[in-house]
Amino acid sequence: MRQILHVDMDAFFLSVELLERPDLTGRSCLVAFDGGRSVVLSASYEARAKGIRSAMPLARARALDPGVVVVEPRHELYREYSARVMEVFSSYTPLVEPISVDEAFLDVTGSVRIFGSPLAIARDIRRRIREEMGLTASVGVASSKFVAKVASTQSKPDGLFFVPEDRADEFLRPLPVSALWGVGEKTRSRLVGHGMETIGDVADAPPALLRRLLGENGAKLGELARGHDPRPVEPRRQEKSVSADRTFAEDLTTVEEVRAELLDIAHRLGARLRRQGISGQGVSVKIRWADFTDVQRSRQLEHPTDASSALFEAAFRLAEPVAAEQLPAKSGIRLLSIRVDRLARADAGQQFDVFDVEEQARSAEGAMDAVRDRFGESSIRVAGVMRAGDDERSSGSRDGRGRAETGAGRAGYPGQTRPDRP
Ligand SMILES: [Mg+2]
Repeated sequence: MRQILHVDMDAFFLSVELLERPDLTGRSCLVAFDGGRSVVLSASYEARAKGIRSAMPLARARALDPGVVVVEPRHELYREYSARVMEVFSSYTPLVEPISVDEAFLDVTGSVRIFGSPLAIARDIRRRIREEMGLTASVGVASSKFVAKVASTQSKPDGLFFVPEDRADEFLRPLPVSALWGVGEKTRSRLVGHGMETIGDVADAPPALLRRLLGENGAKLGELARGHDPRPVEPRRQEKSVSADRTFAEDLTTVEEVRAELLDIAHRLGARLRRQGISGQGVSVKIRWADFTDVQRSRQLEHPTDASSALFEAAFRLAEPVAAEQLPAKSGIRLLSIRVDRLARADAGQQFDVFDVEEQARSAEGAMDAVRDRFGESSIRVAGVMRAGDDERSSGSRDGRGRAETGAGRAGYPGQTRPDRP
């Protein structure tokens, strides 16, 4: 079962402005260019209480509340905050699909072993956004994008709403048809005209009727209404990457040490990719010298991979000549890092028959992952690393034991936080 989060910042532009203008807190205010034909970009909940909404003409908003404070937008600032928020998301899963500057889907199916239940991840994300940025976000947790999105909407503002898969139906059915994706005013009135007021009504309607009313979209709406939404969370591949690194207590001084450490890092990185069901095609290596200068080298693999052996090979081929040439002058290496980008789901387009050798390595690594997951990171060391006489440093693996074992979140329904609306 998939575990999907929809995270949506509350009144994002306005909330960012309030960080710099705390005097406006608690007041009816909005973000918009102060021009004749401009529209509301973001409104405080106090303004919303007076009927003001995003995308409403500013003139109309002023008519609803003559005292409303208008703040000029600063998109540069919002982009900065947006990048920080997205970075928080990316620290839990590489499968982040931003759908606007302040909203994203996260597939955390592969993250639960590391970070705890989806609900725990959702709470953690909300806490970090509050503590690190002073902003609030609402989160919906469900097993599909659609239900997660509806759940976050239901929890706004500053809420968290968890819909277990077997409660999705019960959650969706009483909601108005306008909560369905793609239902605007026109579609809504057509559905209501045929006696369909709630999502449950649409779910029960004969598919032929929906198709007759709304064409192909009608059939899709019926599926959504029944909670069927197989669409995957699709990360923007070019921007996303996964990396693993290690800072050494004592600087490395030989190519052989670099080899051993890269092997270890590649195995941690590969295990992470496999746990999350993704593979990547771009590999980069970063070397930080003792004097804190960095060198970075990257290459593209012929095919996406999640095999630690392939990651190691690519990384070592990049690092070896650099280390061999510069180590004597640079006196030591304090950090090594491997990064993988151009990510894709591992099961998409893998042609195993062509890559017999790599596939063999992958299945061996898969078996090791299973052991590692049961007994912790430190239970397995790669033979090559052992040979390097590295076992002292390896014994206390940083990301091993104490990892939360979790199943699906089993917290209360509906949601941890009140699903009240403004
Ligand atoms: Mg928002």
